[in-house]
Amino acid sequence: MLLLSFQISFFQFACAQPDRWQQHVKYNMDINMDVSTNRFSGKQKLEYTNNSPDTLYRVFYHLFWNAFQPNSMMDEHSRSWGKVTNGKNPGWDPRVADRILNLKPEEIGYQKIISLKMNGVVQPYKVQETILEVDLTKPILPKSTVTFDMEFEAQVPIQIRRSGRDNPQTQVRYSMSQWYPKLCEYDYEGWHASPYVSSEFYGVWGDFDVKISIDKNYILGASGYLQNPNQVGYGYEAEGAKVTRPAGDKLSWHFVAPQVHDFVWAADPAYKHVSKKIRNDLTIHLLYKSTNAPDADWLKILDIAPRALAFMEKTFGPYPYKQYSFIHGGDGGMEYPMATLLKEPAGWVHEWMHSWYQGMMGTNEIKYPWMDEGFAQYATARVWAHINNDTVPASIFKKEYESYFKLVKSNMHEPLVTNGDHFSSFNSYQYSSYFKGAVFLSQLGYIVGDATLDRILLEYYKDWKFKHPNPNDFIRVAEKVSRIELGWYQDFWINSIKTVDYSIDSLWEEGGKSNIRLRMVGKMPMPIDVLMQFKDGSKVLAYIPQYSMFGSKRPEDKGINRQEFEPWKWTQSTYIFRVDRKLTDLKVIEIDPTQRMADVNRANNKLELNW
Ligand SMILES: [Zn+2]
Repeated sequence: MLLLSFQISFFQFACAQPDRWQQHVKYNMDINMDVSTNRFSGKQKLEYTNNSPDTLYRVFYHLFWNAFQPNSMMDEHSRSWGKVTNGKNPGWDPRVADRILNLKPEEIGYQKIISLKMNGVVQPYKVQETILEVDLTKPILPKSTVTFDMEFEAQVPIQIRRSGRDNPQTQVRYSMSQWYPKLCEYDYEGWHASPYVSSEFYGVWGDFDVKISIDKNYILGASGYLQNPNQVGYGYEAEGAKVTRPAGDKLSWHFVAPQVHDFVWAADPAYKHVSKKIRNDLTIHLLYKSTNAPDADWLKILDIAPRALAFMEKTFGPYPYKQYSFIHGGDGGMEYPMATLLKEPAGWVHEWMHSWYQGMMGTNEIKYPWMDEGFAQYATARVWAHINNDTVPASIFKKEYESYFKLVKSNMHEPLVTNGDHFSSFNSYQYSSYFKGAVFLSQLGYIVGDATLDRILLEYYKDWKFKHPNPNDFIRVAEKVSRIELGWYQDFWINSIKTVDYSIDSLWEEGGKSNIRLRMVGKMPMPIDVLMQFKDGSKVLAYIPQYSMFGSKRPEDKGINRQEFEPWKWTQSTYIFRVDRKLTDLKVIEIDPTQRMADVNRANNKLELNW
């Protein structure tokens, strides 16, 4: 009966939907690419709907490619990271290093605004490197839509970071990410006019209609559905269709991407294009070159994708688009809606998982990089565990925990709440966002129970897909589903660098009962699982909730007798519990036998007794 009433109440709150307003964009772009100069001209019509209660007197656009110019903020920031040493190596991202400083005029990137109008009226604007500031001649009223018409020109930079041309490793000609003037997001926190310094993105939800005219020998992969496949061909044509390309040197590719917050494309004349319909309403496209990885490794993606997707959808929520493209390009792996750029095949699961964590749950990656990188890292480990039939948490997240422990021991540990551009070094950003971010979730499974965590992940998807969740939004979902208070977990794990360390302090017998004293050595409190194995082969799991939880996780392993004790107040450094067994019956006692708690010193967690 208890179980039944719990389930009913779970479904009652599950219907609550957040009512936060969000802006809307509708882009129409016409791009004319010249592959001999690596430049293109663009016409952009942008319908912008202000759903906020505020009157907007100005707007901002990102001009990302202006970062690829000597002495830009990205250049200066990277060189300053280079002065921070982590052991022997400079603390910069080696892909960026000091390369921007040495770019020649034909190698730099730029986005130049030729003209800008709002509702047909010329607008004054100021280019501040990677941000375009527009002081509107007339404000945009709440609940109204305006149309911006922009003409711009751009030069594709040599591949430095995320976008660019002619990466010598992949030999891909064009990796076209962050390639158009993109309106900054305005939300309940105001404008996010974040300059392009190092970290990732945040964008306005909306629809894209993009026409790209390019040398007809080039093959494209992109976000969005190709509207003229039988004119284009190159493997996009309908089965058995005759491809009829228009006359001339160029071919126009027309893509439409609905309900996304960005649009990426890539182009190369030597792409091999293979596609696979993995279910009636979903086609996977693979575009790769036979350069820095064997073809077989690329093609393996299509073999494993159906199995991976089934697990992803069951665990993290349905994939709602009809297409996903794995595109060879970029300089590592970088996620965009409905597509990714991959330098090599290895990162395909991680990038695809970003379709959930940032693609659909559109967190602000600049402010909360751990919410997309950490969540994607966690999910990737689970997807691979599913593919490889691994069910042991300690082995599934081994790399994530070990990397987090390495971070703690280094001088790089900074609070996860740090803005992505403000970490002291590239390694600090990476280890924090990816690994400490991933451990956030697996350790949450320890606190609330893994089965409850799975329900939290699906509820998070249900409430926050196609929106902009922040850390507190996730915590709220977790609290509602688990019925455990979790503000303390956010305070310690996200907002501080305090660490967890518990030890077995001492054992003694009194009146035929065993007394066990545990010690909180670290500064971050946690609920405690203590497994006791007795000489007769029986086991007891002592469970001590953390006081601030005001709740407890449900027993996870029905095969083990669990005894729940009074909560441990985190102001107390020791805690004593008693079990109704003689001390000499005890064989092994171990704190957190599943190793999901990120205890920075596990050496003092286990005692094996030989009486
Ligand atoms: Zn990632």
